Amino acid sequence: QAKRTLRGTTLVYSEHMKCDQERRLMIGQFLRQAVSSKEFSLSFQPIVSSSLQSIEAHEVLLRWNNPVLGSVSPDEFIPIAEESGEIVAIGAYVLDEALHQYAASGSASRSGKLAINLSLLQLVAPGLVDQVRNALAKHRISAHRLVLEVTESIFDDRNTALINTVLTELHRDGIEIHLDDFGTGYSSLSRLHEMPITALKIDKSFVQKGDAQATAIIEGSVLIARQFGIRVIAEGVETLAQAEALQEIGVDALQGYLFSRPVPRFQEAVTVAQIEQTATA
Ligand code: C2E
Ligand code: MG
Ligand code: MG
Ligand code: MG
Repeated sequence: QAKRTLRGTTLVYSEHMKCDQERRLMIGQFLRQAVSSKEFSLSFQPIVSSSLQSIEAHEVLLRWNNPVLGSVSPDEFIPIAEESGEIVAIGAYVLDEALHQYAASGSASRSGKLAINLSLLQLVAPGLVDQVRNALAKHRISAHRLVLEVTESIFDDRNTALINTVLTELHRDGIEIHLDDFGTGYSSLSRLHEMPITALKIDKSFVQKGDAQATAIIEGSVLIARQFGIRVIAEGVETLAQAEALQEIGVDALQGYLFSRPVPRFQEAVTVAQIEQTATA
């Protein structure tokens, strides 16, 4: 019967590909089997200290290759998985597989921490704290090695009290909480103290614009972050000029294609020596 369903949807797919709504439905349907069919894999991208002297972390980025749809970007399928609730199962896979690869590489100490993206829905789903603790215990990884990236949507939700409780428990264990895509969302800077945030990740749109306004926003974020005693990371760094400007502003860590694209296996992740070479080439 699975075959019949698949054939049916393949047909719909070829006839109505132009229709956005049809594609969304199809993605939603295919996502339900994607974990069990082993269609997901992980990519890893280094986050380097601004001095380029150490790798602070590797961010885990989910990849989906479906036999019918081909490779689908997380920017397209994550929102659909969030809508259907499938993100909770997908997120559990990401956590387990990422920690597995991190533990298996044996070089965790040289590679910095492991940064994993969490959706709002995962945060408010029952049992997240235990799930994270169990996964760390299973793979024998210290909580201090884990970073969880959340977005500003945590400030725009009815469940702020629950979210705060969950993040506070994780943070007390030693896990870092980073605020991703900073500047694009809802958070007013004055609300930063409401959550146990340990770093801001400036959204790549500000890094890449490079005009006076974007620069002012980055400078302002660095000043505010200092007041709150938290760190600042810039994502989407593609050029040496961007990296130098961000160093100048006082951003603590950098991430982007300049240093490394996301790589498909943790073991293949770049080393500090390679990064220094890229940046001085
Ligand atoms: P994000 O967490 O903000 O991740 C950064 C995105 O920027 C990644 O896109 C990364 O590949 C891309 N990137 C890194 N360096 C550069 C650069 O120099 N230039 C440009 N143009 N892009 C760069 P990706 O992998 O397509 O992921 C997109 C978004 O999907 C992520 O944004 C995150 O919000 C979400 N996502 C990815 N994996 C997961 C996951 O496991 N769970 C959840 N909940 N969301 C995920
Ligand atoms: Mg992220
Ligand atoms: Mg981001
Ligand atoms: Mg993003």
